[in-house]
Amino acid sequence: MATKKKWEYAPAPESKQPAAIASRYELFINGKWQQPTSGSYFKSINPATEENLSEIAAANEADVNKAVQAARQAYEKYWKKITPAERGKYIFRIARIMQERARELAVTETMDGGKPIRESRDFDIPTAANHFFYYAGWADKLNFAFPNKKANALGVAGQITPWNFPLLMAAWKIAPALATGNTVVLKPAETTSLTTLKLASIIQEADLPPGVVNILTGAGETGSALVRHPNINKIAFTGSTAVGKWIQQETAASTKKLTLELGGKAANIVFSDAPIDQAVEGVVNGIFFNQGHVCCAGSRLYVQESIASVFIQKLKDRMATLLVGDPMDKNTDIGAINSAAQLDKINQYIRLGKKEGALHYESDARLPQKGFFCRPTLFTKVAQSSRLAQEEIFGPVLAILTFRTEDEVIEKANNTPYGLSAGVWTDKGSRIFNMSRRLKAGVVWANAYNLFDPASPFGGYKESGYGREGGWHGLYPYLTF
Ligand code: NDP
Repeated sequence: MATKKKWEYAPAPESKQPAAIASRYELFINGKWQQPTSGSYFKSINPATEENLSEIAAANEADVNKAVQAARQAYEKYWKKITPAERGKYIFRIARIMQERARELAVTETMDGGKPIRESRDFDIPTAANHFFYYAGWADKLNFAFPNKKANALGVAGQITPWNFPLLMAAWKIAPALATGNTVVLKPAETTSLTTLKLASIIQEADLPPGVVNILTGAGETGSALVRHPNINKIAFTGSTAVGKWIQQETAASTKKLTLELGGKAANIVFSDAPIDQAVEGVVNGIFFNQGHVCCAGSRLYVQESIASVFIQKLKDRMATLLVGDPMDKNTDIGAINSAAQLDKINQYIRLGKKEGALHYESDARLPQKGFFCRPTLFTKVAQSSRLAQEEIFGPVLAILTFRTEDEVIEKANNTPYGLSAGVWTDKGSRIFNMSRRLKAGVVWANAYNLFDPASPFGGYKESGYGREGGWHGLYPYLTF
């Protein structure tokens, strides 16, 4: 009689060595590494092991002032004077060096943020380099992008990035700003500054004029000093809706241009005529990619009632195969939660879901003893009005609801404060067109999820923010006509 044996994967760990993380990082101002005025540093830890990786300078208001001055001077002295084609060459150079140092960047991203090495290697780093390649190409073609108009740079852009895709978000922000002739002061998130600091060293290696890009590390106060600085022309922010609202208030009485890319609670909608196995993969990718730390995560599944029980069973079967654990292992599907605070927040939502009466299910994945980990989780019998269905959890937790008709699911999908993204799974092209027209979401994926391309714009409706990043649309927020 054949025996049923569960085959284990042999470990396939990536080496830590290529990361070459320094024991301390300073601020990158005016093309040089400078000590913070306060003399204070904070620790950056590996969320998978809780080990300290490095000490990072904390910038205060005086440092923000210095960096903004450097960016202003660089704008007046060099950046606005060189030809657009020259600007493009610098940006191409950044992209090429990123490719050359791809392994170092991927390993660093995984150690610093907890995401699986497969994702940082195959998605974050190549997509970040592609953004620089893409916008380098636009630098000398702005006249073609905006015919019969004279596109002018704004001046100095203040940029604030989150911890979920650190290098990629820095690329989304810096590449279009430079291509359009602006200079930059960027603050990465406190828990994941390392790849942005490595990008600063790439910018040095690419020989950009001093002050064109400045990187200031620090916590929320550093970001808020940047937002309030009077000599900044534009703020680009990606992060929570709460901080986004504060920034909107703070900049309301100024001439600063603003783009906000905030939270989401995307509906991933599966109709009964969908290719079921592909849709299961799409739902898994939608919610478990990057541990669910994704603003456009498909965190609400709407499955048509007639196939709900089959679909949910297939989803559970697939979840049982997901490997949770060491992000440096090339087999790992779900890595570490980014911080203890985020894990705590996710667990609070899991407790809340149970209290609200939804049915909880998680895979039986073995979790490592150390570090911050969470099993892939789903809830069924979720009420549309529950907090589980309305609020952004930012973790590997899926809320499942059912529907009968197209009108009903559109009504339900649009019924959140957010409007960043959605997914539709169906065999019918006409239904895809109808759904994508009526869903209030900046991006609608059809029979796919989480596809990104530098040429494609990204951004939200309602409390998911405004302005677009990526593509030709992503040039607009950095220009005046
Ligand atoms: P935040 O919005 O606080 O962080 C985003 C960035 O803004 C970070 O660089 C942060 O610095 C900075 N920041 C914080 N406060 C201010 C401020 N007053 N002025 C200017 N900049 C500021 O998000 P959190 O990290 O606290 O995450 C909280 C929740 O937000 C998550 O659980 C998730 O739901 C959501 N989120 C959504 C993201 C998205 O892409 N839509 C991305 C990240 C979070 P620092 O982190 O160093 O304090």
